[in-house]
This record gives sequence, C-alpha cells and structure tokens, in this order.
Amino acid sequence: MRRAGFGCAVSGCAVPLVAFVILFGAVGIFAGNWAALARPKVPDAPPAVADIAADYLVHYQAAAARFGLDWPVLAGVGRVATNHGRNPSGCDPNAAGARGPMQFLDATFVEAAKLAGIVDPDICDPADAISAAAAYLKSNGALDDWQRALHQLNPADWYPPLVLAWAERYGYGALVVWPIKGGRITQGFGPTDFAAEPPDCYQGTCYPHFHDGLDLAAPLGTPVRAIASGQVTFAGPVSDGAIVVIIEHSPGVDSLYGHLQPELALRVGESVIAGTVIGSVGLTGNTTGPHLHLEITVSGEPVDPLLILPPSP
Ligand SMILES: [Zn+2]
Repeated sequence: MRRAGFGCAVSGCAVPLVAFVILFGAVGIFAGNWAALARPKVPDAPPAVADIAADYLVHYQAAAARFGLDWPVLAGVGRVATNHGRNPSGCDPNAAGARGPMQFLDATFVEAAKLAGIVDPDICDPADAISAAAAYLKSNGALDDWQRALHQLNPADWYPPLVLAWAERYGYGALVVWPIKGGRITQGFGPTDFAAEPPDCYQGTCYPHFHDGLDLAAPLGTPVRAIASGQVTFAGPVSDGAIVVIIEHSPGVDSLYGHLQPELALRVGESVIAGTVIGSVGLTGNTTGPHLHLEITVSGEPVDPLLILPPSP
C-alpha cells in the first residue's frame, strides 16, 4: 500500500534516517500532548520518577508486574489521587467520599480488593490500595484501553489525560510497542521482487519495486494499536480505497496504518498513547489478504519499522 507522491527523492534519503535514529534516541521524543487536554494543568516539571516516594514506587511496580500493567500509569493514578500519599487529608474522605492513597470510594474499593484477592483489605494501606487499583484497571480494559479503564476509576473527562500526562513524565511516553500482538511479518521493508510494489529510490539507489513499510498478517478484526504516543492527523480512505490512520508522534515523525476496517476507533485530532487501539485489521485497498501495512516516516521519508520497534512482536 502506498500514498501518492510518497517516494523518496533521488538524493538525500539517508539524512532523515540518521536524524530519525538520533531523534528516537533522545529522551522524550514521544512525549505527547496530554497535558494540553487536561483541565488541571500538569506543572512544567522535569521527568520525575525521583518525585515518587520509594515505598510507593515499589508498590506501583509490584502491582503492575502482577497484573501485567505499566507501572508509570499506576504512578500517574497515585500522583493525581494523593501525590503518592502526601496529600494532607490522609485517609479522610473527600467531598465525593473518596479516600485513601488511591482515592477509592468505599464500595469500589471493596470490589477492587476482591478482584485483587486481598484478604482483609485496608483502603488506607498503600499496598492494598495500589494493588486493588491495578486489579480494577485490569478488569476494566487496561493495557488494551487505558482511557476506558481510567474512566471507570474516575468518570471526569479530564481524569484519563491527566493521569496519562503524569505517566509520561514517569517514562510511559517513551514506550514503543508493536501495532499487532502476534502478527506475522509477511513482507519486510526495502527492495522487493513483489511486482505490486511501485518503483522507488532509497538512500540514493533506485529500485524497480520497493516496499516502504512492514506488512503484518493477522486475522480480520485483530486490534491495531498506535506504536507510540501522538496525535491522529488522518483517519479515513485514501485514493485506492484503503482505510488509513496516520499518527504524528512529534513534528515530522509519523506512523501510518493501512488496510484497516472502515470502523475506526478514533478521529482526527485525538491523542493516543503507545498501545491505544486505533482500529482493526481489514482488507481495504489493494491487498491480497488481511494484514496491516505499517509505515514510519521522518519528514515524509520512510524508515524501516524494524529499526524502531522492540525486538519481537
Ligand atoms: Zn505493505
């Protein structure tokens, strides 16, 4: 799959690749703009794991490991709730009746503690509260859909973006994930004998057929996820009928997801984090079978996604 006018000019293709690698090596390349969406502003502080009290950090990491979650998001919940237990109200309920380190309502905590298998749970105990929060988030869709899970914890519109903004400060935004779990690579990036691929020039050499992305075969309907945080800049059909989503991760650094099903999970302008479901594997456009075409570009020039993604799908 490819977009019109996307080819590499005869000269100058290597430079963006080098720039890209440097960019990705830099801390915070994937820092999103969650803070801009949040009602209560996140202060402009440096990335601040050191801000988390050591005992809380241990609980976040232990609970995340136990439930297969990302500890920075749990830390974001704890930061927004009570600043990691530093809130002077201690375990007194707030106006809405929420209390404890993770600001649970009593009824929700009972349910969450049961999910976590905690015997004789204490809403005021950081270990119990954090473990219960992790179990509750997991049972409400976390990892696959953090926004939905966080909304279950607090239905305010500002809540998920604020928690995720803090999560990024604790390192969550630096994540890069595979767009499909369990996908099989059916075509790599680069020159190919596959006649359906158009001619292209890459790093100064021109090829009769060149594949400017990575193809991952998976069953129809398999969820497709954003590889990193960013903002949706395109969502819909391109000229050959393929349904495509494009995410801008930082100015000039984009990822493109092709051949999706027409029903997309998000619209232009929405923010995503690594792992946010954006749609599902489809057959739209020019394709021989259900697969995802993933393209990563820097200043419009394609780079090999395998240079960017973690070691295995
Ligand atoms: Zn492809």
